[in-house]
Amino acid sequence: MALLPGEVVARFSGSAEPVIYRAPGRVNLIGEHTDYNLGFVLPIALDMACYTAILPADHSCLRIYSRDMDREFCIGVAELTFAKPRGEWSDYVVGVARELATAGFPIEPCDLYIASDVPAGAGLSSSAALEIATAMALLGERRMGRIEIARLGQRAESQFVGMPCGIMDQYAAVFGHSGAALKIDCRSLEHEYVQLPENVRIIAVNSMVKHELGTSAYRQRVAECQEAVAAIRKSDPHVQSLRDVTLERFQAIEATIPEIARRRARHVISDNRRVVDFSAAARSGDLAEMGRLFVASHRSMQHDYEISCEEIDFLVDTAIEIPGVYGARMTGGGFGGCTVNLVAPEAVANFEQHLGAAYQEWYGKAPAFYECRPAEGASRA
Ligand code: ADP
Ligand code: MG
Repeated sequence: MALLPGEVVARFSGSAEPVIYRAPGRVNLIGEHTDYNLGFVLPIALDMACYTAILPADHSCLRIYSRDMDREFCIGVAELTFAKPRGEWSDYVVGVARELATAGFPIEPCDLYIASDVPAGAGLSSSAALEIATAMALLGERRMGRIEIARLGQRAESQFVGMPCGIMDQYAAVFGHSGAALKIDCRSLEHEYVQLPENVRIIAVNSMVKHELGTSAYRQRVAECQEAVAAIRKSDPHVQSLRDVTLERFQAIEATIPEIARRRARHVISDNRRVVDFSAAARSGDLAEMGRLFVASHRSMQHDYEISCEEIDFLVDTAIEIPGVYGARMTGGGFGGCTVNLVAPEAVANFEQHLGAAYQEWYGKAPAFYECRPAEGASRA
C-alpha cells in the first residue's frame, strides 16, 4: 500500500484508526475524445492508484492534505454546497464533496489524507483516481451505485473543476478489472471485458511535458464536435451525437461539413470504429492488426484532431522503428503526457533503453516508463 495509517495519524494527531480507500489511474488503449461523443473507449485500470484516508474530526471542516503537493486546505462543511472553485488541486476534492452533499449524502467534519502514485497531468488520469478515492472515502459505509459514483466524479470535474470531460476516466477508476481491458459504451454506460493477448506488454511512456493548451483546446474540441453534429443533422436529423454516424455515412456526406468540424468528426468516428476493430483483433490475438490500429489512431489525433505535440510525435515515430514494437500512440487528453506502446515481451528492455536514450538526446530529459497491467477498480485499501 502506498499509504500507511501511521503517517495519517501523525499528520492529524487523531486517535481513531483511519480508513483508506484506493482508486486506480488508467491507460486508455484506444478511442480518444470519443467518450464525450458517447462512443467507445478501451482503457485498462492501472496498479498505480490514489489513496484517500479518512478520519473523523472534532472541528467543523473538511480538512484535506495532499502528501504529493504537501499542501493543506480547509473548508467548513456548511459552506460546501455554495463553494466556488479556486483553480487548484483542492477543487477536485471539494467538487466531489459538494456533489455528494447535493445528492443527499451530507459531509460530516473529517480529515482527508491523499497520497497517489499516479503521475499528475500525464494523461493517466490522476484526477479521476483522486475524485473516486475521495468519493469512496466520504461515502464510507453509505451505499451508492457504482455507476452513480463514476457519474458523480465526472460531474465534479466537469461542473466544479471546469473540465468538460467524458465519463471514461471515472468509469475506469470504478470498474477496472484485473486481467482485461474495459470496452465501455459511453452512451449506455455498459462495458464488456476485452482479454489482451498474453504475448504482449503494454508500456506507457511519459514524455514529461504538458503543454498549457490543455483545457482550452479540450473545450474547443468539444464545441467543434457539436458543430459537426449540427452540420450532419441537416441531412441526417436523427443524429444526436457523433456516435450515431457510421464511417460509411460520414464518408458519403463529409463534403457538407465545414473543414475543421469535418476533420474533428473524422477522428471521432474513425476512432470509434478502431475501438471495435482493436477489441476484435485483441480477442483473436492479432498483434499486427492491434499495432496497425494504434498507429492509425495516432495519425488521426495528430492530423485530424490536432491534439498531439512534437515530443509525443517523436516518441511514437521513434518507438515504431524499434524491433518488437507493434504500435504506439498518444494516450489521454493530449498536448503531452504519455504514449502507450504494444511491445513484444523479449523486446521491452531494448525498447526502453533505445527510446530513453533517443528522447534524452533530443529533448534533454529522460522519459518515465510504466509497465501497465490491468488492475481492479476502486475499493477499500
Ligand atoms: P491527469 O488526470 O491526466 O493526471 P489532469 O490535469 O486531469 O491530469 O489532473 C491533474 C490534476 O489533478 C493535478 O494538477 C492536481 O490538481 C490534481 N491531482 C491529481 N493527483 C493529486 C494529488 N495526489 N494531490 C493533489 N492533487 C492531485
Ligand atoms: Mg484527468
